[in-house]
Amino acid sequence: MNKTKIIATMGPSSNSKEIIKDIIQSGVDVVRINMSHSSFDEARDIILKVREVNRELSTITGIMIDTRGPEIRTTTLERDKIKLEAGNNIRIVKSNIKGNEDIISITLPEVINYIKIGERILINDGNVELSVISKTTDTLICEIKNDGYIKSNCSINIPNADFNLKFLSEYDIETVKFAVMMQVDYLALSHVKNQMDVLDINDLLIELSDDHIQIISKIENKSAIDEIKNILKVSDGVMVARGDLGIELEVERIPSVQKKIAEHAREAEKICIIATEMLSSMQESPRPTRAEVSDVANAVLDGTDAIMLSSETAIGKYPVETVTTTNKIIDEIEKEINYNDLLLEFNRKEKLSIPDAIAYSTVDLANRVNADAIVCSTISGNTAKKISHYRPSASVVALSPDEKTVSGLTINYGIIPIKVPMYENTDELINTSVQITKKIFNLDSGKRIVISGSFPLGKVNFIKIEEIK
Ligand code: PGA
Ligand code: MN
Repeated sequence: MNKTKIIATMGPSSNSKEIIKDIIQSGVDVVRINMSHSSFDEARDIILKVREVNRELSTITGIMIDTRGPEIRTTTLERDKIKLEAGNNIRIVKSNIKGNEDIISITLPEVINYIKIGERILINDGNVELSVISKTTDTLICEIKNDGYIKSNCSINIPNADFNLKFLSEYDIETVKFAVMMQVDYLALSHVKNQMDVLDINDLLIELSDDHIQIISKIENKSAIDEIKNILKVSDGVMVARGDLGIELEVERIPSVQKKIAEHAREAEKICIIATEMLSSMQESPRPTRAEVSDVANAVLDGTDAIMLSSETAIGKYPVETVTTTNKIIDEIEKEINYNDLLLEFNRKEKLSIPDAIAYSTVDLANRVNADAIVCSTISGNTAKKISHYRPSASVVALSPDEKTVSGLTINYGIIPIKVPMYENTDELINTSVQITKKIFNLDSGKRIVISGSFPLGKVNFIKIEEIK
């Protein structure tokens, strides 16, 4: 069974109940709703459908809300798509006008004050580059550097600009409140620059009395790369958001930055997600390019917890096929991983806390006896997360009576979360563990599973090997 998880972004191509059912059955573990593109009504509709499908299929799917963040976009244009030609000039103005090839306005006009002559401005995911050649208090006059298209509400990146946009907009505050109200599992934060940005959201979650949502900081600009260790300290995980990163940073730096972020996340024992353009060509074609297949496989080898699909599942022609393909690539490359070597990489610390020592020993034991599964009972999910952190060769079945705990384990590598009733005693815990695992993996007699947990459920304190009879 695949251990690297799949996150699918929802959109017009995937918001029907049938497609949601299909993508979940094809291997999607978490759905992402991107609030840069979805309304609250659309988001609510998707969340309710996912929960309905989960009830029907007895599956567990995590739900992620992704904030818009402090981003700059074009306002409405006169036509859907406008072609800009290299060598011409275009003005960016503070007043809100309907844009065309000569003049446009932007969603955060005040940033015009901070943009200097000579600055690069990239529009529509880097499709068109502008260079500022002169400015007045209300206008930037820019030279168009290459032919390309701009659209209404499309992205604007200013990679070297020296301004600090207020991190939390009114819309983002509404988004966080919505995420709490809908009890989603993950909140992905767009355009985080430093630790303070994450702490602002944390404060808001505390104010809203939320103790469930996990924060995923999206690493998509230079400042976030410099601040990665501090950001990790206050986040539950990070996303290598290669879309914006590839515009804000020289594109050739992406592979090394991806590897470093994955490494930092592992050291900090936090979730890592690798995202954007994983199987981009599958938006239009039922088959991926060879390079994309290698890219997905490399992300797995970089040790990521999850791979995220974006436009492929949100607006592509083949959402289900993309998920199936991702699943197959993961399945194939995971066979090549040497889990014993992986565990040795962790074998540096001499002293471990009891939960860490149990998690480490559970993985070591399971690897050594060639166990087909690890089972752990967990209230908060922490034991399962620790075991997953040590990257065991076997999948980790995480049993919990807490509904929120199980859906909050959907991104972690190798974890199969399952909701169970409260146990009456240790025998029942062991028996249930064996029965559930036997069924999931179709285990014959003689197969081994390693069980760790505690009774009553609390701080993990035992490890047991069971042979299937
Ligand atoms: P987005 O984030 O899809 O919300 O832009 C991911 C990225 O930038 O790669
Ligand atoms: Mn982004």
